[in-house]
Amino acid sequence: VYEPSSSSAPPPVLRRKITGHVGFSNLPNQIRRKSVKDGFQLTVMVVGESGLGKSTLVNTLFNSAIYTAREVLHPAAERPKTVAIENIHVDIEENGVRLRLNVVDTPGFGDFVNNTQSWKPILETIEQRFDAYLSQEHRVRRAKMVDTRVDACVYFIQPTGHSLKQIDIDFMRQLHDRVNLIPVIAKADTMNDDEISDFKDRILSDLSFHNIRIFEAPIYDDDDEESLMECTEIARAIPFAVVGSERVVRAPDGRIVRGRAYPWGVVEVDNPAHCDFGKLRQMLVQTNMEALRAHTNELYERWRTERLLSMGVVQDASVFEEISPAERLQEERVMHEAKLAKMKSAMQEVFREKVEIQENKLKQSEVELYARHLEMKEALKKQWRQLIERKEQLENPSSPDAVSIFALVRNCRPKHEAA
Ligand code: GDP
Repeated sequence: VYEPSSSSAPPPVLRRKITGHVGFSNLPNQIRRKSVKDGFQLTVMVVGESGLGKSTLVNTLFNSAIYTAREVLHPAAERPKTVAIENIHVDIEENGVRLRLNVVDTPGFGDFVNNTQSWKPILETIEQRFDAYLSQEHRVRRAKMVDTRVDACVYFIQPTGHSLKQIDIDFMRQLHDRVNLIPVIAKADTMNDDEISDFKDRILSDLSFHNIRIFEAPIYDDDDEESLMECTEIARAIPFAVVGSERVVRAPDGRIVRGRAYPWGVVEVDNPAHCDFGKLRQMLVQTNMEALRAHTNELYERWRTERLLSMGVVQDASVFEEISPAERLQEERVMHEAKLAKMKSAMQEVFREKVEIQENKLKQSEVELYARHLEMKEALKKQWRQLIERKEQLENPSSPDAVSIFALVRNCRPKHEAA
């Protein structure tokens, strides 16, 4: 029997071998059944210049026309003029297992003359989603929390065969601390095997040169041989060279396959010898979905700490475990108040700016009015002076005006009066 001691030494871990069946080995089945019943949720963001095959790849990944709805709503002609954020929610089902898929698209990325800040709205979206989750954590009732955090960001690299472009480096450097980055080489059917292999090496060395961390598929030593091999293959194939196609074509051997048909042959989307599409799908929805979600949570926790510290909330990790519910509530209240205070000061700042703008406008119009007033005063003074001069001229009998007026008056007298 373990007696808790008053010393601060950690309690000893007692290991025991069981001699019969207890039943807790059934726990994984229980969790599986619950997960199947509740379904899964995955939020994937796709980023890359238009025309790199993002919509095609998402439709190919989930074997569904996910993008048709959006295209109907926003035809290409109405696309925004800046990087926009569009969300598509779809429920898909496979063998009775539901997947609530959220695709976050970023139309406009890299499509402008100046793309230096293209990453900004995307980073803001990811952080807003973290913020929304943080607010839910602070709610009194948080049984039904909606997790809108982005689990993975599939970044499409143009198949140039050269090194990464500045826009790629800027984007990944700005986002690697906030989201699981999965770089993919788009339209890999435009390059041959050697070119793809060289391009992958170059991308990896560029990433390491710029200290960019991408999502690393974890490899667990205690996995069975088959899983270990699968995980190793996935990890080695990054950045995945992908090909997308929503159409089925006939392969030279007569098989009907998803792929792209060319005069010289057929590129099969699902054939690992042709491209890495299968490995990307495996990583996203089979082998690494939980690892992606767990790592998203780690990124979120880091962001949360930074955010709360920036708001002035201090927390000593060593005492966290011993914190009582009342203290916890108090801490949450403090956090909430700090958040409110920050919002209040932001609103006050906006209000102050608006008042300043209005004041400047008023000052400007006051200056203009005063100038007009002076102008008019000057004109009236001038007029006044002219009238005085005229009056004096008329009153002076020797002035030419006065003489001619007298003559006029004389001429106008009746004749008998003149005589
Ligand atoms: P998005 O603007 O990035 O969403 O690109 P789309 O999915 O609309 O694709 C643009 C064009 O590229 C379409 O004509 C697609 O048929 C084509 N496309 C998509 N994926 C591939 C691919 O893997 N290889 C090649 N060669 N073309 C592709």
